[in-house]
Amino acid sequence: MENLDWKKLGFGYMDTDYNVRCYFRKGTWGELEVSSETHISVHMAATGLHYGQEAFEGLKAFKGKDGKIRIFRLDENAKRLQSSCRGTLMAELPVEKFAEAVIKAVKLNERFVPPYESGASLYIRPLLFGSGPQIGVRPADEYLFVVMVMPVGPYFKGGFSANSYVITRKYDRAAPQGTGTFKIGGNYAASLCANKEAHDMGYTSEFYLDAKEKKYIDECGAANFFGIKNNTYITPKSSSVLPSITNKSLQQLALDMGMKVEARQIPVEELTTFEEAGACGTAAVISPIKSIVDIENDKTYFISEEPGKVCKQLYEKLRAIQYGDEPDKFGWVKIIE
Ligand SMILES: *Cc1c(COP(=O)(O)O)cnc(C)c1O
Repeated sequence: MENLDWKKLGFGYMDTDYNVRCYFRKGTWGELEVSSETHISVHMAATGLHYGQEAFEGLKAFKGKDGKIRIFRLDENAKRLQSSCRGTLMAELPVEKFAEAVIKAVKLNERFVPPYESGASLYIRPLLFGSGPQIGVRPADEYLFVVMVMPVGPYFKGGFSANSYVITRKYDRAAPQGTGTFKIGGNYAASLCANKEAHDMGYTSEFYLDAKEKKYIDECGAANFFGIKNNTYITPKSSSVLPSITNKSLQQLALDMGMKVEARQIPVEELTTFEEAGACGTAAVISPIKSIVDIENDKTYFISEEPGKVCKQLYEKLRAIQYGDEPDKFGWVKIIE
């Protein structure tokens, strides 16, 4: 793409050449279909529209120094989508079909994969929803799976930097035994008000505590939380946190760097003890945390003005694997031939 300014790209929707679709009808998934049409024709009584039978994924493809395209942890995203489907009684898409569709969408839009030097990447957004009609609250008989892709800019334009968050007690993104562990639209609809209020107050994002007791750390907006102290990587264990693939990868890297890893409940007050903390997810890999403000209790948990050294190390290590600068020793990367 000669006339695309890769470095100026943000995180936003952009048309690309093709998308890949697959329909589930009469009890089976059909063949993959390639389309250059950005619209889909959906029945007005589709369960995805009425009853939230909808799940999505987010992953990225990177172009290496060697010119090869690498997709990060494709199988993990395929498995998480299956889990979201089970959680909302949707037809499960086989892992192989997911992988085939994603690879096809990336290859067909190869000219949109940003060059290595840009620090940008190709964002891949798979979507699966109930497309068949129902008017009673029941799962659909038909489903549509779509994969769209678009180039997105480097998350940190002015270099790796730390952000401030605000604790929300007014809203929960998911209930303790609800749908928090599934990557479904409803959780995002539930988070929009909290997110808007946090933005309006000048914070990067809202910060969630556990919905039941409001005692423990849950999620950092639409990202997982981790804290670092005493050579240990600590992340919340909760029935309403989305299992982040970035978080899982960072835990593996932390172990590999000789750190300990703990997944457990983290009381809010423990924030005073962390040497470093971060929000993690596909968009940024790690977004280091500067401070977390608790307005109701007139308290600010200050972590650090600048990103700490463990955050930096983990961030650089993961990025190096994604771009192919370091050997893929855990088998996380699928190289597109
Ligand atoms: C997608 C998502 C994340 C991050 O998951 P990754 O697999 O690391 O991208 C974290 N929290 C929520 C609520 C999410 O939807």
